[in-house]
Amino acid sequence: MSPAVLYRQLPGEGLDTFIAEFRKAAARDPFGTVFIVPTSYLAREVARRLGDGGASFVADTVTTLPGFARKVFFEHAAAETPISAADSRLILTRLLAAGRYPLLAGTGAVDELATLFDVLIMRKVDYPAALGDLASAKSAEIAALFGAYLRFLDGHGLVDESTLFSRAVRLLAAGEFRTVFAYGLFEPMPLERDLLLALRESADEFHYSLPYAPNPAVFPDDGEWLHPDMVVSGDAPDSHLSHLAGLFSRREPGDCGKFIRLAERRDREGEVRAIAQEIRDLLAAGVRPDEIIVAFPDLASAVPYVEEVFPDFALPYTASGGRPLSASPLVQALLSVLAVPARGYRREDVVALMTSPYLPNAGGCELDILSREARITAGNWDGRLAALIFALEEERARPDSAQSRLAEKIASIDAARNTVRGLFADLSVLEGTKTIREHLAAYRSLLERWQAPVMPAEGEPDLREDEARDLRGFMETLAALDRVSRLFPEEKVALLEFSSMLTLLLAGTRTGRRRHGNAVRVVGVREVAHLAVPYLFVGDLVEGTMPRLTTRLPFTTDAETRRLATRSKEDILREERYHFLAALLAARTRVSLSYPAADGATPLVRSGFVDAVREAFSPETWGNSDLPDSRLAAARRAGALLARGEVPAGMPPPLTLREAVRRLNVENYHRKGGYDSPYDGMLGDDPALTERFGDGAVFSPTALETYADCPFRFYLERVLGLAPLPQIDPDLTAQERGALVHRIAYRFYSGWTCDGNGPVTDACYADALRRILDAGREEAERFAFETPAWAADKEHLLGSPAAGRGLLERFLRHEAEVAASRFVPHAFEVSFGLPLAPGEVDAASVPDAVAIPLGDGTIRLRGRVDRVDVMSDGRFMITDYKTGSSHHRLKDIMAGKALQLPLYLRAVETLTGREGVAGTYYTLRRGEVKNKPIFWDAGLKECFSCFPGSGRSSVGDVRDLVDTTLSWVQRYLAGIRGGCFPPRSDAGPCPAYCGFKTVCRFDALRLITAEGNPDGTD
Ligand code: SF4
Repeated sequence: MSPAVLYRQLPGEGLDTFIAEFRKAAARDPFGTVFIVPTSYLAREVARRLGDGGASFVADTVTTLPGFARKVFFEHAAAETPISAADSRLILTRLLAAGRYPLLAGTGAVDELATLFDVLIMRKVDYPAALGDLASAKSAEIAALFGAYLRFLDGHGLVDESTLFSRAVRLLAAGEFRTVFAYGLFEPMPLERDLLLALRESADEFHYSLPYAPNPAVFPDDGEWLHPDMVVSGDAPDSHLSHLAGLFSRREPGDCGKFIRLAERRDREGEVRAIAQEIRDLLAAGVRPDEIIVAFPDLASAVPYVEEVFPDFALPYTASGGRPLSASPLVQALLSVLAVPARGYRREDVVALMTSPYLPNAGGCELDILSREARITAGNWDGRLAALIFALEEERARPDSAQSRLAEKIASIDAARNTVRGLFADLSVLEGTKTIREHLAAYRSLLERWQAPVMPAEGEPDLREDEARDLRGFMETLAALDRVSRLFPEEKVALLEFSSMLTLLLAGTRTGRRRHGNAVRVVGVREVAHLAVPYLFVGDLVEGTMPRLTTRLPFTTDAETRRLATRSKEDILREERYHFLAALLAARTRVSLSYPAADGATPLVRSGFVDAVREAFSPETWGNSDLPDSRLAAARRAGALLARGEVPAGMPPPLTLREAVRRLNVENYHRKGGYDSPYDGMLGDDPALTERFGDGAVFSPTALETYADCPFRFYLERVLGLAPLPQIDPDLTAQERGALVHRIAYRFYSGWTCDGNGPVTDACYADALRRILDAGREEAERFAFETPAWAADKEHLLGSPAAGRGLLERFLRHEAEVAASRFVPHAFEVSFGLPLAPGEVDAASVPDAVAIPLGDGTIRLRGRVDRVDVMSDGRFMITDYKTGSSHHRLKDIMAGKALQLPLYLRAVETLTGREGVAGTYYTLRRGEVKNKPIFWDAGLKECFSCFPGSGRSSVGDVRDLVDTTLSWVQRYLAGIRGGCFPPRSDAGPCPAYCGFKTVCRFDALRLITAEGNPDGTD
């Protein structure tokens, strides 16, 4: 047995001496000398210091305890193969998939079981025997799985990261490592102790530095389990370090001077911004970046804030832990190749795949729009695109269609259809149930054929480096999966399962990190112990993060945990205290602690450790909300000064003062107050507008109503030709519902009157009902929807025992009720100014626009009147069918907002020479069927008394009403031709259906009064 020397020292104390002694011993015996430390981070730091001091040593002799176990294993075990933690999880996944463990199934089970097994092995727990009378069906199942897992490893010659320790204990040969330095290991677990004791037995010299202070609240381990031959106690001078070491011990408060500071910040981002500003101040005072460490208890969740904030302060930094590979955009693109077929060709997956810059499939943006129009949600893309082409072909066959636009559109859908067919044919090789190796082979082969991923040939060097590193990590993960797949050569899995396995592996693999030489180090709190750093920041000190008191083992109750004698809550609290304290002891000049007060709207509870520090040292606060080195805050300040008309001292690059002033003027001057600039559509005279909307132009009432409601919307829609992205509606849209009802009404009445029938009355009601239902069924058959919503729509249209009378029947009932009006249905779908589609429009229709005199000019009008009813003397009323929930009233006509009925009335008068006496809106929807006159000649009271709700819509002179509308039209034409397109000026809210809210000045985000925080955040 070697003489073992135990050094009881404060964390970090005596490390230099250990390094110096190791250097000497390694020079004498490089392969027989080993230096074991608690973290990889410290191992790298020790190696760096040795290298900086010019020492030569064997690289893997400075290592962690798991690293040392691996080293021993590799040097001795020829027959067994070590596997990673991710591999272990995959093996557990496959064992669980065998289905013999019903109590253990469920989301997250694999991770929790892997953690439990790791604890059982490392703590040498005899499971389930140790449970005694607490054993249950669940523990029996866990034990069965645990046994199956261990047998699987044995049977395949595999060793996981935990069992590797017991192998190393067995394999360690006497005298193999002659000089051993173990530094800073805190409360090793039983299996780790076995390895250390085995090492002590076999070495010639054994030096063990135990983190220790006379403070049992943190340091109960005195190292006696090592049976030392000699004990050396550390100096523990009466300094701020010894004061710190007494933290949590309820000693009298000590004095740490200005060594420890403490601050509360608004939220996590505000906290990181304050840290960044402090670092900038230190750098300005001459401190080097690598003399500063920023530590967080949960590094992974803090890194995104650091990535956001540190570049804003131009801080060079290097983070010790990378992100999961599965979070890399490049890796996500490659995973999307599997996700598309695995998840049934969902629209958003396909579009994401087609728009990814890392994949060679172009055309995603256009496909996004076309697939919305084709109402694709998933699955049958070809059928849906074909149906869209068919519908457009039908539309194109009509004489009134925009032929060239439709032809172009059909061609583009056809091209998209071919692209999708090719893409899906490629992806189909991935589908089906295969062995993991077959899945891998198909996946790799497809990526190879696509030459994916596409790596950018130029761009930001750091980003390209990240992408290359992520790709390497991805390929290594595929290779790891390949290795594991050999363990299950015959087992077949579905594509979705294969995709999940790969995702699981990638989620458990961390990307490497960019390393900068002289940079601020961003690390986890546990990585700071034993380092010596001048300036230390420890952030995010909130309950649940530090201390993180996760007492219960997965799949075990508190009683079971106690019975298994694994770590108690007190053990965990002590361990957390140790890591916090060890981190503080690493600081040499100053340590700045902080915690966020809230996470968004959720208040956070500061860590009990913060209170302990407060009570023990009464620390001063640090930092304030002034962040002079934040580019974001500088931009905000510059903006605020500029907005007040003052000139800032400097501008945050790349924005120039001139450009900032120009933009601010647009926002603060032109787009505020009255509408008077082109930014609000006030274009002024423009020959192009005069030409396009001059005397020869043809207008529809709808276009003019758009201008009446909002000239800016008219400008965006009708002048610029913009359109919002189509909504994806797998059922009948509002427009389609309207068109369907119009077609049925047209078919019914044109056939009914053609056969010599008059108004629908009780006498002919049954015949009329049969005919309209026949037409309704035929028209409904044209839609190929198979959704429950469409089935319900049809029931409400045609009626059923469950739904009662349908819309069509209620329509006829209403017709019979108003048959006494003396108006007889006469003409249907009277079209003018539009190409004529035979069989779809009335015989009175004309292809030319109707010219209506307008003061000293005319307006050429196009449109289609749904229905004209006439009296025996030739006077007529026009009707517009409405299937929506709201429509205009008489006051809207008087106010120039509703133009359609008066303009149509005048157009029919012009076409027929007859006199129009009324206009009605016929509401045809599920909750309401009613023909409501909006205006009618007051002299025809006896005709309109049978129309419900018509009492207050009579007018003395219909011609006057129409002339009022024409005077409005005159104003609108002048506005359009004069380039006057301001946003609406109504006090009321903009219509919900306006798709241009994000581009006009009423964008909800623009209306927020941005009261920025001083730290540059909103
Ligand atoms: S949001 Fe309102 S003002 Fe803006 S374009 Fe639409 S309707 Fe016009």
